[in-house]
Parts: sequence; C-alpha cells; structure tokens
Amino acid sequence: MEKILFPGSFDPFTLGHADIVRRALGLFDEVVVAVGYNEQKKGWMPVEERVEAIRRLYKDEPRVRVESYTGLTVDFAKERGITAIVRGVRTTADFEYEMQLADVNRRLTGIETILLPASPQLASLSSSVVRELAHFGHDISAFLP
Ligand code: ADP
Repeated sequence: MEKILFPGSFDPFTLGHADIVRRALGLFDEVVVAVGYNEQKKGWMPVEERVEAIRRLYKDEPRVRVESYTGLTVDFAKERGITAIVRGVRTTADFEYEMQLADVNRRLTGIETILLPASPQLASLSSSVVRELAHFGHDISAFLP
C-alpha cells in the first residue's frame, strides 16, 4: 500500500489543493492530508476547523485521511511510516522554495518529494488570495471545493 503525505497550511483548503489530492490519488493508494501548525503564522481558521472541513469534503473517499501535526513535516511522515511527500508548484517562486525544502527533507530522512505542476486554470489560486477576498466581504465559494 503506497501512501503519500500532502502537508500544508490549507488556510483555507482551495480548489487548487483539491486538484493536487485528486491527482495524487491517481498515483498512490492513500493520500494523507496533513494540516501543519505553524508557530509563526497565527492562521485565519483554527487548525481543527480546517481539519474538520477537509474531512467533511472527503467523507466518502476512504483513500484520503486528514490529520493535523506539529513540528517538522518529515518527522511526522516518519512517525506514520510514510516515505514520500507531494507538493504543488504554481510559479517559479514556488519551485525554488519547494526544491530547497525537498533537498533538506531528503538529506535529513531520505523522504522524497513529488512536485506536481499546478493545473493552469488553478495556478493563480492561493489560500492568501481567498483570505484577502473574504476579508473584504467577497464571496469566496467559487474558489473552494
Ligand atoms: P504551505 O504554507 O505549506 O505552503 P499551502 O496550504 O499554502 O501550505 O499549500 C500547500 C501546498 O499546496 C503547497 O505545495 C502549494 O504549492 C500547493 N498549492 C497551493 N495552491 C495550489 C494551487 N492552486 N494549485 C496547485 N498547488 C497548490
């Protein structure tokens, strides 16, 4: 059984994230969506609410599990016996950041990272854009799964 970890802030979980989950399910038997507590970022939605919202979304998909974690992503992956991480790449800035993370993670633990290019129609979608729109009272439903 091949599992992959999809870690992130998911604040909130957008159509872009759902697209990565859907595509990862085509490659792996199980996708563990892991909502990380980020000590530097207070967050828009409480982590437990993010977890609940994503769980509701995948309640009929037994191949998706949703959890929260603290600390290093690779430590959480090792605890769970997961040897690969999936991340999405929208821009060259994402790419540079993800390359660096992937390299450190592989050196630390041998865990490999699979980078999936964002689907073009979703490549400009980010949680921060959604938060900004919500902040100014706009309807964000078109960006959420
Ligand atoms: P983090 O704070 O760890 O970057 P995010 O929740 O912002 O967490 O993103 C989690 C992952 O999802 C990252 O790999 C990010 O590049 C990817 N991602 C975010 N939005 C999209 C999108 N629209 N299309 C594809 N991947 C995306």
